[in-house]
Amino acid sequence: MTEAVETLEFQAETHQLLELMIHSVYSNKDTFLRELISNASDALDKLKLATFQDKDLVADTADLHIELDVDSDERVLTVRDNGIGMSRAEVIDLIGTLAKSGTAELRRKLTEAKSDAAAEELIGQFGIGFYSTFMVADKVTLTTRKAGESEGTRWSAAAGSSTYEIDTVADAPQGTSVTLALKAADEDDHLFDYTQEWKLREIVRKYSDFIAWPIRMRVERTVMEGEGEDTVEKTVVEDQTLNSQKALWTRPRGEVTDEEYKEFYHHVSHAWDDPLEIIPMKAEGTFEYQALLFIPSTAPFDLFTREHKRGVQLYVRRVFIMDNCEELMPEYLRFVKGVVDAQDLSLNVSREILQQDRQIQMIRKRLVKKVLSTVKDLQSAEDQTRYQTFWTQFGRVLKEGLLADTDNRETLLTVSSFASTASDSELTTLKQYVERMKDGQDAIYYMTGESRAQVENSPHLEAFKAKGLEVLVLTDPVDEMWVGSVPEFDGKKFQSIAKGEVDLETEEEKKETEALREQQDKDYAELLTWLGTTLSEVAKEVRLTNRLTTSPACLVGDVFDFTPMLERMYRASGQALPESKRILELNPTHPLVTGLRDAYDARKSDADEGKVPELTETAELLYGTAVLAEGGELKDPARFAHLLTERLTRTV
Ligand code: ADP
Ligand code: MG
Repeated sequence: MTEAVETLEFQAETHQLLELMIHSVYSNKDTFLRELISNASDALDKLKLATFQDKDLVADTADLHIELDVDSDERVLTVRDNGIGMSRAEVIDLIGTLAKSGTAELRRKLTEAKSDAAAEELIGQFGIGFYSTFMVADKVTLTTRKAGESEGTRWSAAAGSSTYEIDTVADAPQGTSVTLALKAADEDDHLFDYTQEWKLREIVRKYSDFIAWPIRMRVERTVMEGEGEDTVEKTVVEDQTLNSQKALWTRPRGEVTDEEYKEFYHHVSHAWDDPLEIIPMKAEGTFEYQALLFIPSTAPFDLFTREHKRGVQLYVRRVFIMDNCEELMPEYLRFVKGVVDAQDLSLNVSREILQQDRQIQMIRKRLVKKVLSTVKDLQSAEDQTRYQTFWTQFGRVLKEGLLADTDNRETLLTVSSFASTASDSELTTLKQYVERMKDGQDAIYYMTGESRAQVENSPHLEAFKAKGLEVLVLTDPVDEMWVGSVPEFDGKKFQSIAKGEVDLETEEEKKETEALREQQDKDYAELLTWLGTTLSEVAKEVRLTNRLTTSPACLVGDVFDFTPMLERMYRASGQALPESKRILELNPTHPLVTGLRDAYDARKSDADEGKVPELTETAELLYGTAVLAEGGELKDPARFAHLLTERLTRTV
């Protein structure tokens, strides 16, 4: 079955990106070769693994390798592998479309990226993989045959075209070859001539030396033959292997340069940033393994999407077993990249077996401990820049562990940083918070919300501000999840300032205000009862508070209630929740509240029978204002606006 040549459209983002790539002055064009070799190496790993897992697979694995082939006259460079190859459908899916996850983000950045510098940054951030070939080629042709299949596929695209061609070929060898029609050589810039043997050698040595498969190139050498006067110069052609093939994780740290680690990181992570931390590990004894982990310096754009998948690779005795081995790293450390090479596992190991395997569980425990201790070291370093980079990029992910990983909760609390009312710009650790706690303060106060501004303007904060008490400002969605479940840090409970009753008075102050409070309770008793009935549809209780200094009212939850933000999150994720009511707290010293009380007292019996609509409206307005003050949403904003307008009209 041979399908005709098909011309297909690139996805809009892909085309845009290609345009950028073609015109970009990305300073590091050499990386295109690293990307092709990296893909070829993955394809060889996958084939080796497939033949382990499927004994019936018809594939030639006798001499797995990568080959560079140059035609200087035609200015053509080919990178070939005899690995797993791709089916026609896979070519369309994998090569014709760009990263499926994060396309929205990519689209946004592409629209913004008008300049070369911006394009360069994009290339560095997204990691362009296969498409980086368009930095150096006018036309790219990929020919591939999937191991086990008989027909091959050819894909080709010219630089700048919005379409690509795809065709079936009968006689393709197993594996993939990528042929680049190189751009015309720049007269003055031999540094970028990819037909030069020395240039290719240099790139391979620099970027791909650790690749486990041989990277070969056919080279011509001049040799002298014969003796004395009969000596003749002869040109011999031979295949040379350009890389040392040494697995980086098996070499002692002191022997490996940071450059080498960096390139290895690029290969395993498919990312283009630099690693922030390099973590080599080695364990001997019952569970023997070697690991080489990396903490990236930039969060990938798809870290919070479901598709995010790159993590730690599992090898068994140097043989690649799987990408993203979830059993080795918990979700909340999904940004950690690298390799674990275990000694005593079977090469046939499956995901199901891994989940049960005690050795894997042990390794995972140690990896987690090691990563967390690395973060702790970053945090205790004199120079805080690296820790700050880490926290900005990955703090939100790490905090997921506060809920999920109870074993390491203490450490996670210690390495975490939070915004707080103590400083507008600097974050605080919990330890620092505790050191600043006032005499007699026995809880760590926090408030969750959608933004710092929202929290800062919320009425709940008033009394804390007045008393000079520090409050943590928690605005990441994940904060809502953990803070309710983590009981304490350093013996101090976490306490929401928007939940439960707040009692900020010292024993002495209490004595002083006791009489006043009793009087207020008496004075307000009837009003509170009336309000409780009038607002029973929206508030479960109405009571007095001393937490407010300038606002008339606020809403608070019971200790176990959902916060409004958490409710919104649940609803947004499609979960049905029962309508929840909260408690309306009143400031007994606010003129609006005292005024309402006096008005009520004057017309008590009529009001109780619902015959004084102005009073009912004031109650509604009071409640609505409390909702708005905490950044909440009114059920019936039109009615609120109407009531307010009428009231204002009367007072202008
Ligand atoms: P990435 O390697 O990060 O996935 P690339 O753009 O480099 O992104 O490659 C896209 C996909 O195309 C790869 O994930 C792989 O599935 C497929 N691919 C690329 N090159 C080869 C190859 N030489 N052999 C087999 N598959 C390949
Ligand atoms: Mg790649």
